[in-house]
Amino acid sequence: MRRPAALLSAILLSALNPAWLLSQSTAPPDAPYKNPATPLEQRVSDLLGHMTLEEKATMLSGSGWMESAPIDRLGIPAIKMADGPMGVRSWAGSSAITNSVNNPAVKVQTTSFPSGVAMAATWDTDLVQREGQAIAQEVKALGRDMILGPTVNINRVPLWGRNFEGYGEDPYLAARLGVAYIKGVQGEGVIPSVKHFDANNEEFERHRIDAHIDDRTLNEIYLPAFKAAVEEAHVWTVMSAYNKLNGVHCGEDPALLTDILKKEFGFKGFVISDWGSTYSTAPTVNAGMDLEMPGGARVKEWMAFPATQAAGNGGGWLAADKVLAEVKAGNITEATLNDNVSRILRVIFASGIFDHPHMGGGEVDTPAQRAVALQGATEGIVLLKNAGSLLPLDATKIHSIAVIGPNAAVARTGGGGSSLVRPKYAIAPLDGIKERAGDSIHVRFELGVVMQGEDPALDTADARAKSLRAAVDAAAKADVAVVVVGRYARLEGEGFDVKTMDLPAGQDELIEAVEQANPHTIVVLNTGDPVTMRRWIDKTPALLDMWYGGQEGGHALAAILFGDANPSGKLPVSLPKRFEDSPAAANYPGENLRVDYKEGIYVGYRYYDTKNVEPQFPFGFGLSYTSFAYSDLKVSKIEFAGKNPGWNFTVKVKNTGTRAGAEVVQLYVRDGHSKIDRPIHELKGFQRVELKAGEAKTVQFNVDRADLSYWSPDKKGWVADPGKFEIQVGASSRDIRLSAPLELKP
Ligand code: BGC
Repeated sequence: MRRPAALLSAILLSALNPAWLLSQSTAPPDAPYKNPATPLEQRVSDLLGHMTLEEKATMLSGSGWMESAPIDRLGIPAIKMADGPMGVRSWAGSSAITNSVNNPAVKVQTTSFPSGVAMAATWDTDLVQREGQAIAQEVKALGRDMILGPTVNINRVPLWGRNFEGYGEDPYLAARLGVAYIKGVQGEGVIPSVKHFDANNEEFERHRIDAHIDDRTLNEIYLPAFKAAVEEAHVWTVMSAYNKLNGVHCGEDPALLTDILKKEFGFKGFVISDWGSTYSTAPTVNAGMDLEMPGGARVKEWMAFPATQAAGNGGGWLAADKVLAEVKAGNITEATLNDNVSRILRVIFASGIFDHPHMGGGEVDTPAQRAVALQGATEGIVLLKNAGSLLPLDATKIHSIAVIGPNAAVARTGGGGSSLVRPKYAIAPLDGIKERAGDSIHVRFELGVVMQGEDPALDTADARAKSLRAAVDAAAKADVAVVVVGRYARLEGEGFDVKTMDLPAGQDELIEAVEQANPHTIVVLNTGDPVTMRRWIDKTPALLDMWYGGQEGGHALAAILFGDANPSGKLPVSLPKRFEDSPAAANYPGENLRVDYKEGIYVGYRYYDTKNVEPQFPFGFGLSYTSFAYSDLKVSKIEFAGKNPGWNFTVKVKNTGTRAGAEVVQLYVRDGHSKIDRPIHELKGFQRVELKAGEAKTVQFNVDRADLSYWSPDKKGWVADPGKFEIQVGASSRDIRLSAPLELKP
């Protein structure tokens, strides 16, 4: 309870507050906006009506690094944010501070979920929704309101530093997973932020690079995941990207933020800037930016660092004094300001944080949350090769395992940057294998080669030779060798691109040497970006991609190695043989700070499959310890609802092996008749189906006009040309098992 003296001084203070003096009206205790029963839009307009111009202007920029501005007089709370998307990151400062495990100021430890690309490899929308829900529960437990994710930028180039965060190369897959994540988060009354809008597809000069993309490519490849987030998941916030798009910074692009996002997609929430991506006041506000982050004193301190400016960050432009000056000068109208503020208020009411603030003090990293992380890590592992059925390992037959590699004994849970979560514990591959192997199997670890750039003491010629010799010795003496290779947060992360598709120094040589010493070698990739494999792939009997698997990665890997879980992950990206084979290789990173997306719509398999370039492993590919037969693809129902015809396809999938497993059945549409140039086929449906040994299930897909359409530059909209299409169903983009015709009547 407040003591009378404290109460008196509070009243005096608020009376002296200029905002109070300038207020247009006071808010009575029974003001409609305070009543949860008042319809949402009415609450917004009522509250807006109580706000002064100054208060409105104050709301356009943050009050700190991760908080929006509160207006205490009216009970408007600050929105308390935390980074994501792969769990709740500590919010105390920039990633340079909060990523540091050794920084004692970083106390927040939360569940580290698998990276986005690993979750995408599950193709499990239900699981991704549960991941969003689990993360949102942690957000609330920690007294925060908002998680900065999901990342739905398309993996255009194999070297993008943030490929590990994204949902892969296909806009349909990214859209489905983004929608699932957002629904999971919003269902808990937590605010997500789908990011980065738009075309943040490389980290090279991310503040200055100007992506030139034609309208068709934008609409077919780089906008669909955002469109679905708005139209289907009704996402509450969208984060704009750092880069320029067709000459204009995304944060001040009216075509992007207002015309496309707000008008065309019908976005009702608020646009938030990426941290340090604003460069003007009136043009930014008028373009449709609603909230600049960070703000307050923190942004001033941060912008004062020479490195901040040198990197190309901009900030402090939407501070209240600057916004008010532009309003007074007539460059920003009050109507615009009202729209900005209404959008923020709408989200504050819709999420429930106005009525039920998240007080914190809850539990994080609960058994249920860990279970989601483990399931994601397990389902996301992709079995790429299994010659002679080396896997799964039979624990009753093997006596020794050599576990080798710079990624074996250290848990590399994620790539670097704002998404890196600090977990309470993390299971390295070696931990998981040892735990599963128990006492009856001898496990010997050897580093093999030091991780590039990690430990100078082990990076001398002598030390390297010694490490390699020990690894070869261990491999030669063991029944099986498991080599875990890949990158880590300092070689793959936000703010820089990966320098080469080749594995870090010495890792190819390590694989070759171990394979020579032991024919029963299993190679495990622990990285987000593709790697070149040409030096060893033909000789490698078994290959797994575990991506960055979060804190449970090591358990997941052991479960797959020993067959406790049957691999079911499928590649959400094509893995090219060489960087030069990838579609955007010639148009990356651009010249003179301009990158032309000349490959257009031919991203990923759209390119490899249409232009007959053979990747190392195709999109959608992944093996299992069992096998699946596809049959009986047919149209079960045709509906013609005016302009919106719909087809219902069914296909039978049978587990023809002896173990339970899951198959991801993929549906592609082929358009062989339209006059416009189109990819040979495009993913328009998928379903993950669990089947016991011998079991068969009928899987159903709906196909409609939108699935047959392309974006027409002439008509400036989506068009489906009448004629004959082909529906293809298969186990990867290059393993089409069945096809059926479909005719769109004029
Ligand atoms: C990243 C965002 C992140 C933000 C806040 C930026 O550098 O691009 O993804 O949410 O920082 O940490």
